[in-house]
Amino acid sequence: MAKKKKQLTTAHGNPIGDNQNSLTAGARGPLLMQDYQLLEKMATFNRERVPERIVHAKGSGAFGTLTITNDITRYSKAAVFSKVGKQTPCLLRFSTVAGERGAADAERDVRGFAIKFYTEEGNWDMVGNNTPVFFIRDAYKFSDFIHTQKRDPKTNMRSATAMWDFWSLSPESLHQVTILFSDRGLPQGFRFVNGYGSHTYSFINAKNERFWVKFHFKVMQGIKTWTNAEGEAVVGKDRESSQRDLFEAIEGGDFPKWKFSVQIMPEKEAETYHINPFDLTKVWPHAEYPLIEVGIMELNRNAENYFAEIEQAAFEPSNIVSGISFSPDKMLQARIMSYADAHRYRIGVNYAALPVNKPHTEVNTYHRDGKLRFDDNFGGALNYEPNSFGGPVEDEKFLEPPLKISGDADRYNPREGADDFIQPGNLFRLMNASQKEQLFSNFADAMQGVPERILARQLVHFYKADPEYGRGVAKKLGLDMEKYVPWAKLSMAELIEKTAQ
Ligand code: NDP
Repeated sequence: MAKKKKQLTTAHGNPIGDNQNSLTAGARGPLLMQDYQLLEKMATFNRERVPERIVHAKGSGAFGTLTITNDITRYSKAAVFSKVGKQTPCLLRFSTVAGERGAADAERDVRGFAIKFYTEEGNWDMVGNNTPVFFIRDAYKFSDFIHTQKRDPKTNMRSATAMWDFWSLSPESLHQVTILFSDRGLPQGFRFVNGYGSHTYSFINAKNERFWVKFHFKVMQGIKTWTNAEGEAVVGKDRESSQRDLFEAIEGGDFPKWKFSVQIMPEKEAETYHINPFDLTKVWPHAEYPLIEVGIMELNRNAENYFAEIEQAAFEPSNIVSGISFSPDKMLQARIMSYADAHRYRIGVNYAALPVNKPHTEVNTYHRDGKLRFDDNFGGALNYEPNSFGGPVEDEKFLEPPLKISGDADRYNPREGADDFIQPGNLFRLMNASQKEQLFSNFADAMQGVPERILARQLVHFYKADPEYGRGVAKKLGLDMEKYVPWAKLSMAELIEKTAQ
């Protein structure tokens, strides 16, 4: 027997009698204003999209579980790590960074790797990338940098000149640029990338001791990448290649997994470590801070509704839980503000109450009202504190140990004294001959049409990381590296002067 169908209604629950024909004055006459069902349908349709994210607009996601396999309670008292075997539900959203919502997946770009852990002490968001470092070390340059990755104000096209102008004027970008143009810069899909917290965060243990920590999620399916030519062929046939791969694998029961590890630095060691451990353009070499296993993260459930559960998912590095906290990394500090702020603009002030963003624990705040307060707005509960009616109160057991800060408030230049070349050079020297060859070609492809003076500036940076690196790219570009080798001795100011228009 056919199942009885549900009654179609308006958004207000009024049954609809005709969903095929509009209300008109006569068979060939104009529409009537009173066809409120049509008005509701069209007005709702006009408002279907929320503003896309300025960065990381194109994304895919899935739900899963983190299972703890190793005891790290000596470093962190976070409930999520409390015992081996402990399982915590999570949501992972992958993304490309520069392209808009309709961009193709198989493009050379960093991949976002944002995880929301629904822990028993509230949500912990680890909002990372598939790279352990970033292009800049001070958020003052973030909007400038992103503008170079987006459309030119006049041509409305992406501009290789803008990208290389900015990168060549910001040698701190060299480490991330080397990763982006290496074979790993064009992954075959989201199931084949590592994830990194990138920033330095902190752990706090039950004795209230602080440790600096870096988060690593090593892919268990292996890293798989495409060459530029392969990527172009994929995009020609399928703009959703990463979404398709992830969705279909999970739908078919082939659940992707990542091994979660941490690097740990005792609080005191940061003061004497030979690099600034809070510099987002740097890694901590594994030989100095080996990876310590924490657990396995598995993705095993697709969203039922993409918009509700992935597009409206709001990740923010400011979502920390007791036992996990921030560090003085300037980029992290700025992200603490900008992510939640972006969600308030993009989704609305009550975004945290949406099912996908809501913690699996009780929420007790004195925030009230605001646009689209779609839950009961805490009913009749008091909306001020202190109160003498038993409202929710603080508990000092959640306070962090004080962090010692010294110095004068000033605008310090984080580039002074920082080396921008050793770590990119180390990465270059790890590559085999075929990876180096791919790196050189990938640069040459991406540098077409860029003025020679800008290329020369960038070649000097490559050369300073490793002479073979500079020479290899120069050769692919048909430029003579030897002409620019003496410039490697210049200060950045002198190099800018040499390459001025
Ligand atoms: P190790 O030899 O111990 O580690 C090298 C690391 O480089 C591995 O994590 C490897 O990832 C990763 N790697 C290999 N090829 C690429 C690539 N094309 N893009 C990005 N990462 C890649 O060396 P060190 O710890 O001394 O680091 C040497 C260099 O390796 C660093 O300067 C940095 O550029 C890079 N690196 C270091 C990381 C760290 O946290 N120490 C993390 C990632 C990169 P995998 O194991 O998955 O193959």
